[in-house]
Formats: sequence, structure tokens, C-alpha cells
Amino acid sequence: MRALLVILALLLAVPTNSQHIINMYDGVPYVEYDLLQRVAKDYLGPDVTIYYIHASPLHPMVNGITHRTHHRNYIIQLNYHQDQSELVRIETLLHELGHVIDGYQGRLTYNPITWDGQSYPPMEWKARPWEVSANEWSRCLFYEYVIEPELKRQGLIPTAGPRVKF
Ligand SMILES: [Zn+2]
Repeated sequence: MRALLVILALLLAVPTNSQHIINMYDGVPYVEYDLLQRVAKDYLGPDVTIYYIHASPLHPMVNGITHRTHHRNYIIQLNYHQDQSELVRIETLLHELGHVIDGYQGRLTYNPITWDGQSYPPMEWKARPWEVSANEWSRCLFYEYVIEPELKRQGLIPTAGPRVKF
């Protein structure tokens, strides 16, 4: 009994990776859910929850959007077009995850929006520093989770990894 209690205490003391990725609707492509889980595990704390809406009726010019609801709860919405490529979806998803990472790290705050503690006047989308950062995240995460595993798989760089296929 005592041994059991010790084991139980040890189990409770071990920090677990318990970020929550909650798919709001069925039919999320596996590659998207897998990327969400892996990026969250590597870059976000265990108290972060992301609600993922993979097919939202957003404005046709908008590929995705990220909201923070309260504390460390985020909603990521991706748009749905009939002719959307998986590549654009993944680049968008990684961009939105960049916003979550910047929010988690305290660089980006919502309502009001501030970046590194500063407010900005309304400005063009691509000039907004948090969008510049999210685009950088998208490129870096794409390399880390898509390109690098493929190069490893092909033996061009050492060690094999999972493959994302388009
Ligand atoms: Zn953005």
C-alpha cells in the first residue's frame, strides 16, 4: 500500500505535456492535427488550450485567424475554399500558431493589440510586426516540421523523421 502511494505521488509529481488541442468539428486532416500537437508540445506550455476550427466561412481574402479567449486559451480558424491546397493550409496553420507562440511568450497581446509592449496605429497587414513575426514562424516551423524530416527521410541529412506528403 505504501509503495503504491509512493508510486502515485511520483506520477503526480512528474510534469506532463498536457497542452490541449481541441478539434471543434470532425474531419480535421490528420496532418493539421499532428502539426498542432507537435508544435504545441515543443513551443507552448502545458496550460495552453487551442480550439481548432479547420473549416470556417471567413472572408475569401482571409486564410486564417487567431483569437485569444481568456488566459491561455486560443481559437484558430482556417478558411475553407473548394480549391485550397494543403500547402497553403499548412503555411496558414503555422502562421496562426506563430501568433499563439508570440502570445504565449508575451510579445503579442490581444485587446488591445500590443507588440513588445507597444501599441501601433492601424496599418497595412504585411507591415504589422506581429504579422511579420507570424510569417517568420510559418517559414521556420515549415522547415522544422516538413522540410527537415523529408531531407532526413531521403538521407540528405542524418536521422530519419516522419514525412508530410503533399
Ligand atoms: Zn496573422
